Amino acid sequence: MFCMPLKRRDTMKPDDSQTRNNTELASSQGRLLREAETGRLDNLECPKCLQATLSVWFTHPSGDAYRTWVICGNCDFRFRAQNAGRPIHFSENRRRKDLEEADLSNMKQSVFKRP
Ligand SMILES: [Zn+2]
Repeated sequence: MFCMPLKRRDTMKPDDSQTRNNTELASSQGRLLREAETGRLDNLECPKCLQATLSVWFTHPSGDAYRTWVICGNCDFRFRAQNAGRPIHFSENRRRKDLEEADLSNMKQSVFKRP
């Protein structure tokens, strides 16, 4: 018998509010984020439809805020992770303005809370 080493990374935390009750998907998110860190940004296997149709995208909504998005081109699977800093593979042609607007409106809601 051996134990699987489960190392947690603090630099990227899955923002899994939409899939919180699905631990299987949550562990897939960690795996996909690690693959993204190694530079695999396309043709990743989707944990939901099991096709190699996932792509990794980035947003840079403000200041030093960066997000990593993983989106399936075949089904509705997608999730977002918050980055502690600029992702290694961040580049302008991997930047999604449409997702960035979603990030921005989320941030405004949390930052500018009116009493
Ligand atoms: Zn899928």
